[in-house]
Formats: sequence, C-alpha cells, structure tokens
Amino acid sequence: MERQQVYEGKAKVLYSTEDPGVLVSYFKDDATAFNAQKKGQIADKGKLNCTIATHLFRLLESQGISTHWIETISDREMQVRRVDIIPLEVVVRNVAAGSLCKQTGIALGTPLKPSLVEFYYKNDELGDPLLTRDRIRALQLADEAQIKDLIRLANQINTALRIFFEKCQIILVDFKLEFGLDDQGSIILADEISPDTCRLWDRVETDASARILDKDRFRKDLGQVAEAYQEVLQRILAQISLK
Ligand code: UDP
Repeated sequence: MERQQVYEGKAKVLYSTEDPGVLVSYFKDDATAFNAQKKGQIADKGKLNCTIATHLFRLLESQGISTHWIETISDREMQVRRVDIIPLEVVVRNVAAGSLCKQTGIALGTPLKPSLVEFYYKNDELGDPLLTRDRIRALQLADEAQIKDLIRLANQINTALRIFFEKCQIILVDFKLEFGLDDQGSIILADEISPDTCRLWDRVETDASARILDKDRFRKDLGQVAEAYQEVLQRILAQISLK
C-alpha cells in the first residue's frame, strides 16, 4: 500500500492511505514532557498505548460516542478517519493534580465535584495556555455551539471512562482529549486516550508514588514507567474478558 507521512507529532506519526478519508496512526515509543523540554523513550510504549487506546475507543464507540478510530491493523497502528483537528486540548479533571494544583493552590488529591472541563490552546510556541470561552471565540477556534458540544462530549466520555476504570481498580484523575471535525462538520473524538494523556492512580495502592500508573512516572523520574503502562493494559484486558 502506497503511504506517505502527513504529520509527525511527539508520540505518533500519521500516514496517508489510498483512501483520502482514512489515515494510519503509528504509535511511537518516544515520550516528551514539559512542552518537549524533557525527551526520552519508554520501551514498547507505542504498542501498549495503541492497544490501550484501541480498547478505550471501542468502549466509547459501544456507548454511541463517535471517535476517529476505524480499526487496529498492527500492534502499533490504527486506521483512523481523517479529521480537521480543533486546536484545543480539552482537559477533564475528577481529582486535583498537575497544573490545576500549581496554578490555584488546590491540594493534590482533592476530589472535584462536579468534574472540571477546561480548554487549553494547542500551541507549543505559546506553551498551551489555559483559555476562556471568550478567548476561544476571539481566536475563532470554536463557536458557542461547538464549545457546548465539546463540553457535552467531554462529560459523556468522562462518565464512560470513569466507570470503566473504577472496575479496573483505577482512579481516573484527569485526562486530555482532542477533537476534530469530520467531512460532515460533526465533532468526533480524535488523537488517543492512554497513560500518556491520562492521570491514573491505583485504587488499591495507597503510597503516593507507587500508585501512579501514568506518564507522571516519566515526568517525575519515578522509574518503572513501562511496567505501569503494562499494568494498566493488564487490568483493562482482565476487565474486558469478564464481559
Ligand atoms: N495532558 C496531555 N498533554 C498535554 C497536557 C496535558 O496529555 O499537552 C494531560 C496530562 O497527562 C493530564 C491532564 O492532561 O492527564 C492534565 O494535565 P495538566 O493540565 O495538569 O498539565 P501537566 O501537569 O501535565 O503539565
């Protein structure tokens, strides 16, 4: 099959296919943090994230949530629908962590009820700044109806994922979503959902460092990064096999 690279991001490469509406998303082992100031590799991360994202996209699709995922074609590659990515990082928070704690002083681990849905500008040069609704409109990144749709979808995805991860004995602390517009102008979920884009805490383990099962292990040099991703995958697989 004739394919050409159309985009290379920090963790994935996108290739064109014979079908102009379909791309192949290839998951790399590369890991970056702090706006790519920290770089490294996590052994087999591409395979782990491709498999984890596959199961989570399937779960969402089974609940009527449209995603770009079509089919997983190898251990690192999935076919996805081509979309125009909306340059927003939609972050959902169930428990306070990361930049929320840094910027507001809220204590790490504080439960957030109702959950927070936040928008950040997907722009490395500007350091992905937090946006307001007015700024989103001023920048013409999305109109009011689309903002409402993004919030509705983010909440719906959060509910589905939170319930699923709870069954896996994992707390879904927070996560980042990216959406795109399909050829009909409908908003669908794109990018990936994986331990690279979520904070996941083991519900059983109580030690603050040992319970971290996500990219914070890489960000904070906690070690056992691939092992944590593997643990997430094992729990997802165990949960799915129970169905
Ligand atoms: N996140 C991400 N990509 C980004 C920024 C954040 O996947 O460019 C995820 C991150 O892994 C976490 C959530 O979004 O699960 C919230 O991140 P936060 O705003 O706290 O930023 P951080 O502390 O990671 O810089």
